[in-house]
Amino acid sequence: MILPKRVIIIGGTHGNEWTGITILQNYQDFLKNKFPELELEFIFANPEAYKIEKRFKDEDLNRSCQFLNENRSTYEQKRAIEIQKIIQKEPCVVIDLHTTTSNMGNTLIISNENAENLTLAGLVQENLPETKILLAPDLLKKYLISQSSFGLMIEVGPVPNNVIRPGPLKDSLNILISILSNIHNFRVGISEVEVYEEACDVYYPQNQKNELTACIHEDIEGNDLIKLPKIFMAFQSFNGEEIQYEANEEMYPIFINEAAYYPSRLAFTLCRKIIKNI
Ligand SMILES: [Zn+2]
Repeated sequence: MILPKRVIIIGGTHGNEWTGITILQNYQDFLKNKFPELELEFIFANPEAYKIEKRFKDEDLNRSCQFLNENRSTYEQKRAIEIQKIIQKEPCVVIDLHTTTSNMGNTLIISNENAENLTLAGLVQENLPETKILLAPDLLKKYLISQSSFGLMIEVGPVPNNVIRPGPLKDSLNILISILSNIHNFRVGISEVEVYEEACDVYYPQNQKNELTACIHEDIEGNDLIKLPKIFMAFQSFNGEEIQYEANEEMYPIFINEAAYYPSRLAFTLCRKIIKNI
């Protein structure tokens, strides 16, 4: 098992997530000096979205790669083609910096489940035990990190959009540094990792006009990655009703009340906690 020394660090895939953009704008020299043995490249993925302080200009860049064969002529499709070309020039590890408005804490997202990615995430977790590992299988290869076999998203929250908070900035930087040192000193030695695997999406109740009729229930608000009973209160409707959700097993919610998911009416995603053998 070996990882390439070429590492592409992407920030600003979402133009309103300023933590990654700040790292890209201020820490490139620091990181290059700290890791001279790695070939670090930096990509500011969506500068047009950053200018207008939005997640994207025409469409979500972190979903655009699934449409590369279609003629969509969006700004993000153009950027997705350019970024994919850079990534696929030579083998590399891709690290994409994100934040969430959800109370997720510090997480690493793996979209391509292989021994290298699981080991790298596990090594980071050894250094920084509060880091959780999420598995988000990406069969459509829509995420930027999925354009290489090796890649991790750093997802830290809660952070409001277009805001820099010192804690999440420090945490993102520490996770990034840990990933880079573990790429440099990559070793086999972890036989299993605990991961939260995405299992099902739960959507807000809506009326026929597609308006929300309920919000997240106060019982689960902010409780990302905390185990839920099989039956739990998911929503509280605006006419005072409590709305239950019944799952088949005890699951763990993520991205509860994420601002970016309101347009699609996605309220949260349920995960299974499992052990992955490497
Ligand atoms: Zn993002």
